[in-house]
Amino acid sequence: MARWGVVGGGVLGLMLAHRLAGAGHDVTLIEGTPELGGLTAAWQIAVPGVDGAPDETVTWDRHYHVTLLSDRRTQEMVAAAGLTDELHWVETKTGYYGTDGELRSVSNTMEFLRLPGLNALDKLRLGGTIVYGSKIRDGKRMERIPVDAWLQRWSGTRTFERFWKPLLRAKLGDAYRAASAAFIWATIHRLYAARRSGLKKEMFGYVSGGYARVLDRLGATLTAEGVKLMLNAPVRRIRRDGDQLAVDTDLGTERFDEVVVTTNSHLAADLCPDLTPDEAGRLRAVRYMGIVCASLVLRQPLAPYYLTYITDPDTPFTAVVEMTAFVDPQEMGGHHLVYLPKYVSPEDPLFDASDEEVRAGFLPYLQRMYPTLRDEDVLAFRVSRVRRVFAVPTLGYSGRMPSMTTSVPGLHLAGSAQLPFATLNVNDTLGLVEELLP
Ligand SMILES: Cc1cc2nc3c(=O)[nH]c(=O)nc-3n(C[C@H](O)[C@H](O)[C@H](O)COP(=O)(O)OP(=O)(O)OC[C@H]3O[C@@H](n4cnc5c(N)ncnc54)[C@H](O)[C@@H]3O)c2cc1C
Repeated sequence: MARWGVVGGGVLGLMLAHRLAGAGHDVTLIEGTPELGGLTAAWQIAVPGVDGAPDETVTWDRHYHVTLLSDRRTQEMVAAAGLTDELHWVETKTGYYGTDGELRSVSNTMEFLRLPGLNALDKLRLGGTIVYGSKIRDGKRMERIPVDAWLQRWSGTRTFERFWKPLLRAKLGDAYRAASAAFIWATIHRLYAARRSGLKKEMFGYVSGGYARVLDRLGATLTAEGVKLMLNAPVRRIRRDGDQLAVDTDLGTERFDEVVVTTNSHLAADLCPDLTPDEAGRLRAVRYMGIVCASLVLRQPLAPYYLTYITDPDTPFTAVVEMTAFVDPQEMGGHHLVYLPKYVSPEDPLFDASDEEVRAGFLPYLQRMYPTLRDEDVLAFRVSRVRRVFAVPTLGYSGRMPSMTTSVPGLHLAGSAQLPFATLNVNDTLGLVEELLP
């Protein structure tokens, strides 16, 4: 039995700790913030009472999350939390806001084919691109081509501008320009897998109470399994100490035989001074995108769409995600929850804007999209900011990617930087757990 330290209490750290404990190891999970969950963590949004009603609090995920029918590992996590019976599957709709100012449904193939601005040949090429992408087995091949060039080659420029670009911007922001075609390959494969396992409809899942509930129950499961949970314990340094690794945290130093660091790769390089210059260089060279994500609590719904793509390249946010078009509004005390994400580079000045400044930048465009939305309908507006969310799969990335094993005995690194052929999602992240198990 080895002593394992897992740095980071996001879903990756949590499920790794669960599996290691199940295999009989002595496991300590060290999380820097007061709560578990990382990017999936929930938060509270204060909703001031109107017309004499008392103030309320909406508790939901800081960042919107859905589970696909094909997300087997995510569903295993929900099972480990004992919540399988509370996973609800809902058919969702997708919207499309065109440059003509019209909001349309693109929730099925027929609606999709009615999209204006694309002729029959464009649509044929679009369908052909998706089918062709789904048939390619080797994502590595796609890494050599920029994603915009690959899509324009197979779908044409007009379809790229009107269809693919809004989709890329919704997932990658302007970082799509640096991404390889491996990204769209991974996206197409994820959607195909979802539809294969489903009813050809877009069915998404959520757990009642959101990730707050999953994380709470998962924390209890880990404690029952004997995992030591250290919260509020930011790790400052991980260094060799004889045959072991010493982990210095704000709560003291812990010693382990094996340590897995699940933070972003730049931070991992800072935390581990014993890595070689080449290893540290690879970690720091990973290009990340960050997110500024506003949560809006509204008095009434905007539209029936969970996700609305926006064609206009100059929008202040990259998509509209209406959570309560999917999750029962009763989960939010009868209010409506909308997210406005903006994917940006870690250096973007938007990270320094206050919530009020973000609101002033975002709200006028939202009101242009939904003209009936009045200022007073926005009951609360709260902004989440994370500078390094996801490693962008740049050209030839898998060849430069930092390895999970390091030259320091017992030290392992894992996160989106080790996922060259994936999109940003829990299920693919949890795939790393298998690779880390001894
Ligand atoms: C806007 C948005 C929407 C998303 N939508 C979906 C979706 O619909 N479906 C889906 O499946 N996935 C979605 N995801 C992706 C999903 O949230 C991530 O893939 C997943 O949460 C990554 O987990 P992780 O454990 O690897 O990383 P993280 O969650 O980043 O965990 C890392 C942990 O390390 C901790 N840490 C950092 N520094 C230290 C330190 N020095 N000491 C100790 N601890 C430290 C952090 O606090 C954090 O808890 C979305 C993500 C975002 C941002």
